[in-house]
Amino acid sequence: MTVQLRGVLTALATPFTADGSLDVARLRAVVDRSIDGGVHGVVACGSTGEFTALTLDERRLVVETVVDQAAGRVPVIAQTGATSTAEAIRLSRHAQSAGADVIMPVAPYYEALSVEETLTYLRAVAGSVDIPVMLYNLPMATGVDLHPDTVGALAREVENIRYIKNTTIDMAQSAQLIHNHGDVVKTFVGWDSLLLAALAEGAAGVMAGTANVVPSELVAVYDAVSAGDLEGARKTWAQIYPLIEAIMAQPFIAAVKAGMAAVGFPVGAPRPPVAALDPAAAARIAQLAKTTTEAAVGTTGPTAGTTAVRRVRAGGILKDGDLPPGQHFIDGAFRPGASGQSIDVVDPSSGTTIAQVAEGTADDTDIAVAAAYAAKDAWGALTPKQRSELLHQVADRVAENADLLARLESANTGKPSSVAQDDVAQTIDTFRFMAGALRAPTSAAAGRYAEDHLSVILREPLGVVGVVTPWNYPLLMAAWKMAPILAAGNTLVIKPSEQTPLTTLKFAELVADILPAGVLNVVTGYGPVVGARLAEHPDITMIALTGSVRSGKAVAQAAAASLKRVHLELGGKAPVVVFPDADLAAAATALRAAGYWNSGQECGAACRVLVHESVAEEFTKALVDEVSTMVVGEPGAGDDVEIGPLTSKAHFDRVTGYLERAAAAGIRAAVGGGAIPGDGYFVAPTVLVDVPAGAECAREEIFGPVVTVETFTDEDEVITRANSVPYGLSASVWTKDAQRSHDVAAKLDAGTVWVNAHLVLANEVPWGGFKGSGYGRDLSIYALDDYSRTKHVMHNVAR
Ligand code: NAD
Repeated sequence: MTVQLRGVLTALATPFTADGSLDVARLRAVVDRSIDGGVHGVVACGSTGEFTALTLDERRLVVETVVDQAAGRVPVIAQTGATSTAEAIRLSRHAQSAGADVIMPVAPYYEALSVEETLTYLRAVAGSVDIPVMLYNLPMATGVDLHPDTVGALAREVENIRYIKNTTIDMAQSAQLIHNHGDVVKTFVGWDSLLLAALAEGAAGVMAGTANVVPSELVAVYDAVSAGDLEGARKTWAQIYPLIEAIMAQPFIAAVKAGMAAVGFPVGAPRPPVAALDPAAAARIAQLAKTTTEAAVGTTGPTAGTTAVRRVRAGGILKDGDLPPGQHFIDGAFRPGASGQSIDVVDPSSGTTIAQVAEGTADDTDIAVAAAYAAKDAWGALTPKQRSELLHQVADRVAENADLLARLESANTGKPSSVAQDDVAQTIDTFRFMAGALRAPTSAAAGRYAEDHLSVILREPLGVVGVVTPWNYPLLMAAWKMAPILAAGNTLVIKPSEQTPLTTLKFAELVADILPAGVLNVVTGYGPVVGARLAEHPDITMIALTGSVRSGKAVAQAAAASLKRVHLELGGKAPVVVFPDADLAAAATALRAAGYWNSGQECGAACRVLVHESVAEEFTKALVDEVSTMVVGEPGAGDDVEIGPLTSKAHFDRVTGYLERAAAAGIRAAVGGGAIPGDGYFVAPTVLVDVPAGAECAREEIFGPVVTVETFTDEDEVITRANSVPYGLSASVWTKDAQRSHDVAAKLDAGTVWVNAHLVLANEVPWGGFKGSGYGRDLSIYALDDYSRTKHVMHNVAR
């Protein structure tokens, strides 16, 4: 009896097919809709589930299906009341053996029971099972009112009676249960429109049929109350209250089903004799559902109430032993920092601290640079074959630990599991590519270019390279630097982002027995301390940074004093130019990935659409359709999760700030538009439409799940506008006209231009920007070249 019920429990509606039979497949979807909406439990065969209209076999099938579909994600409560005590006992035992967590036996109110008869029935049914029991008090419909003191006495007498669903508008009665008997029986209010009042009073939760219609909104109210934010709870509740009240005012089951249809989730009409809703009431509910949804998805505010976050069960995705030591990795071993200070590493799905790492100092950095300096000659002197073999071993080690690294990356960044797994796969390929490429140098051949002189052109390592990486792809961006730097024969000191250091430290731990001591060093800490020291250090010959323009400028300035080489991969604001002849559906589908990959925290994201005015409506509709069905969730909540939380609270505030200012400027969110209430830093996938040229949201890098849509009228104009931002990292052009595609691609001022594609990368081709997006190239042989220098040795060979 470990289950502890709390929160919003959905009284699941039962779906029927057009011919009136039980729709089991749809029932599974009904369960998912609630769980995806964040509810804390689901109830099978409650009154909203039309149990009186189901056969006993159907009731058993409903319970089995709900338990199977919930799959342990949330507790299942089975309503097992029947017309006789014996039947209720049979149903309750079946529910227990099917895996239900709690039973709720409605008393057999086929005739007016006395309180004593009701208690006898409840004692008998509760005694027939080992799992907890929820009482169901429904005085308005049954005429039997269980007084709070009677309930308290029963719960004291029968050990497994632990909860009560109190369906009454008499708040005083609920308050008595909560305050006088809360030690033995937890109260769930069963009258949906009293949700906030009951929660504010201290109820354990609510059991609500309306949670079939607006689950995440009800959860948002519960979450806000739990967080002590009564004002926030009131605001969200005020938005949805008219819809809840309208549903409560009608025959309940039919009204819930009308509400579900109105939010795009039809489950068929109620089964006769339960009456369908009259058309006028259905229309009113549909209208209210629409306005509620629009208000919640935020043309006005920072919350996107209709988008649900799929959660995983408590405990998260990390396993024992996953975390690396929270120390610097210097000269082949983990060492504590000089300061003794540490930095908290936070899980953005919940905001909780999952690890601590050393807060590095300039002294720590100097020790690491000295180790790298001491190791550089021996590493640089290895033959290409030897270095290549070691880098292949590194790739193998990463592959052996792919699952661990992906989980660690997801736990630290919040990125969906599929994205983290892709990052690890690309990390492996980056090391394999560089391990191969280093053995096939591409420099000009040796030759006699001056009379009697033989020129030998050598590619030499630079020495020690300093590396600074960002938080959006911690492992992959580190790999994009480390692999070519090591392949070219350099040693390095890397400073991961202070927010996401875990996979870089884990990588160092995993390859510690492969790379010689000092070849790879990791110092954790803040940019202006550790990063700045790397940029200025006289023994470092090159500083490579992936990050924001601001940080890029800072390291370039610091590097100028020693005239060290600088390699910068900075931000982007990729234009996506859609011509009228483009395959609009293909473009919209591609943007579902390219605009929102890694929750939009992607420097090459397809975030700024410029679509020809003649097809703007059609394209926007296709894009909004795609984005509306995106799955938001915590990592580990399923392979189909596409959007996770933003990686830090500070970044969440930044992204929602852009959305708030866009809304204040009158820019409409066709879908999404703001934060998703509840734990973690979730922002709803958003499409901002009718965006005027030059608007802040279309000019600056938002770096979240936000795509803006502007329109254009002619080709010259769109090229000028696409190039009008300070960034020049990537762009795409969508057209079936081959000549136009070449012409426009040539004129777009970006380091990568895709034609009828976006965000497709490969290790063989270079990645890097123009203008404010920096200089230097990651990936490909161009990166190898960047991390090495040419030396010309000329021999006088005259005889
Ligand atoms: P950021 O600039 O805030 O931080 C990047 C790194 O720089 C961090 O490790 C940080 O500690 C360090 N840093 C900060 N100030 C520094 C200073 N004064 N001296 C030295 N180091 C300093 O960037 P971020 O927010 O972590 O990453 C997001 C940015 O990275 C976005 O702008 C994104 O477009 C860009 N990015 C670019 C690429 C690319 O390939 N071009 C790839 C990924 C991310």
